Amino acid sequence: MNSEKLIALSDKYGAKNYLPLPIVIAEAEGVWVKDPEGNKYLDCLSSYSALNQGHRHKRVIDALVDQAGRCTLTSRAFHNDQLGPFLKLITEVCGMDMALPMNTGAEAVETAIKAVRKWGYTKKGVPLDQAEIIVFDDNFHGRTVSVISFSTEDAYKKYFGPFTPGFKAVPYGDIEALKKAVTKNTVAIMGEPIQGEAGVVEPAAGFYQEVRKVCDENNIVMVADEIQTGLGRTGKMFCMEHYGVKPDMYILGKALGAGVLPISAVVSSEEVLGVFTPGEHGSTFGGNPLACRVAIEAIEVLRDENLVANSCDLGKYFMDLLKTIDSPHIESLRGRGLLIGIVLKESSNGARRFCEALKDRGLLCKETHDHVIRFAPPLIITKEEIDWCFSRIKDVLENVE
Ligand SMILES: *Cc1c(COP(=O)(O)O)cnc(C)c1O
Repeated sequence: MNSEKLIALSDKYGAKNYLPLPIVIAEAEGVWVKDPEGNKYLDCLSSYSALNQGHRHKRVIDALVDQAGRCTLTSRAFHNDQLGPFLKLITEVCGMDMALPMNTGAEAVETAIKAVRKWGYTKKGVPLDQAEIIVFDDNFHGRTVSVISFSTEDAYKKYFGPFTPGFKAVPYGDIEALKKAVTKNTVAIMGEPIQGEAGVVEPAAGFYQEVRKVCDENNIVMVADEIQTGLGRTGKMFCMEHYGVKPDMYILGKALGAGVLPISAVVSSEEVLGVFTPGEHGSTFGGNPLACRVAIEAIEVLRDENLVANSCDLGKYFMDLLKTIDSPHIESLRGRGLLIGIVLKESSNGARRFCEALKDRGLLCKETHDHVIRFAPPLIITKEEIDWCFSRIKDVLENVE
């Protein structure tokens, strides 16, 4: 079937909760994808940073196939031989004590909320059902009802209430507002080190160092949602390292499964994750041996291929090239490593038409929040491929009216 027919099919039979660019991806390898007509495109979105290792990394696929030939699912009613090694590896990478595996990012965020609430009631002495979690304006932590309950984005919430109580949002980067929001019932402060969905937004310098202090002084769990920024995307293993801050809990997902299978995890101290007892929380597929095996390989690929360093070096190289573009549309450039946003001017009529023009030149990316073009290629990208991207971006930004 050709692209046109395939798009018509999903338009006719699918709910319209997305507005994809008009391209069908039928095959993929590394940084490249192909449509059914055989046209090639370079993937500069990486499925929102779930493909840090590139499409179908050979080692990950080999591990997947091998594990598929052994055992795929046991449920947590029984042990399996991949879960323990995965937990050991991910806790070492995070420098923490324990991990709890789930499947999607939003599920891991829900798990984090349950963990810090129970910690609050059983360890901090917060009166039952009074726990408060502080989050930031323009946050993105997923799409479940409790998670959208603390979104500040109308489009994510309208018509989906009633919502889960127990959350307060304060302006991102405003340390005074944060301090005012803290009460004796605050159990956690949760944020993204860089807000990806909000348009690659970094808080004011020194903000997360201050958050760390507020957490230490008030016995609050500092939670970093590194689902998008973690695992090398910003040029460090975790984006919080740029600020010299170690949170009390990491939430991971996306690239943890190398774009092959969904797997997510909450990683924290024994003090916090140790609060769960059997039967209180779970997931049928969470911790399944197929996903654990894939995640082990996904992490080892990051390490063995120095993808964190590549993200750092090529991110700088890419950013320096972008700075040379002379375009009336560019308001500013922001980001770290290979997470880069080009912020367009109000007068430029939105980022989407630029993404469409880039698609027509063989480069795939996606607008975020109307006026930001986000670039997040797989971390395996080469310098030559960045040059290839750059010439197309320059052409579009300098020549599209
Ligand atoms: C993508 C994302 C999520 C949600 O992950 P899903 O797997 O889509 O549920 C949560 N937090 C951040 C920061 C994300 O980028």
